[in-house]
Amino acid sequence: MNIILLGPPGAGKGTQASRLESEHGMVQLSTGDMLRAAVKAGTPIGVQAKAVMDAGELVSDEIVSGLIGERLDELGGETSVIFDGYPRTAAQADSLDQILADRGRKLDHVIELVVEEEALVDRITGRFSCAKCGAGYHDRYKLPKVENVCDVCGSSEFKRRPDDNEETVRTRMAEYRAKTAPILPIYEARGIVSKVDGMADIDHVNDAIEAILGSDAS
Ligand code: ADP
Ligand code: ADP
Ligand code: ZN
Repeated sequence: MNIILLGPPGAGKGTQASRLESEHGMVQLSTGDMLRAAVKAGTPIGVQAKAVMDAGELVSDEIVSGLIGERLDELGGETSVIFDGYPRTAAQADSLDQILADRGRKLDHVIELVVEEEALVDRITGRFSCAKCGAGYHDRYKLPKVENVCDVCGSSEFKRRPDDNEETVRTRMAEYRAKTAPILPIYEARGIVSKVDGMADIDHVNDAIEAILGSDAS
């Protein structure tokens, strides 16, 4: 199965993708995570992407589609994948069609997380994650069960993204509105889009996604 989680920054894509990973053994393909790993490793792609990401603008279509193709090749054909934060432009949506067709895959569902924009700044400025395992948290909506201890791996080291500040978030939202939201009709025309209320709490959003995936995701 191949699904896309679509929604603006802070909509909950990463949170829901990791639920699907742990519950169904699907694999999350997050171009944001791949780019951050490239920045950290200081690869040529990372060096090129860093300033663009810090500004909240979009990295080039060639770079992100290249990363996705490489990752799919590493996974092999049997693995179910969740695209998180990709595609973000019409050109990327075209590339994804080609990338999937070349590998005998097809898109099963595009799940749109529908959220109110005013809630997103709050979600993003409160976001943090485990420095060791990457588990995601929020200052108010998802604190670790034991204060300062990661639920997943027990680490006490946490980090925040440099681009999770109010100013950059505004740019990222504008990019979403201008370049990403317009790709929805491409998928709507194929009848594969399902809308989920992303303002509900994390468990309810997960339930709604499970209902869409249904027996496909056993
Ligand atoms: P995205 O991957 O779409 O940018 P995240 O999954 O990282 O979004 O979520 C952004 C922040 O909001 C995180 O701190 C996360 O813990 C929190 N969050 C995610 N989903 C919800 C929700 N349904 N209600 C409240 N907070 C949420
Ligand atoms: P969020 O979902 O919170 O907006 P991501 O982790 O998906 O954050 O992306 C962080 C940054 O990485 C984006 O602001 C952009 O600069 C870059 N990026 C990630 N995915 C893509 C993509 N598919 N196309 C272009 N740029 C991307
Ligand atoms: Zn952890």
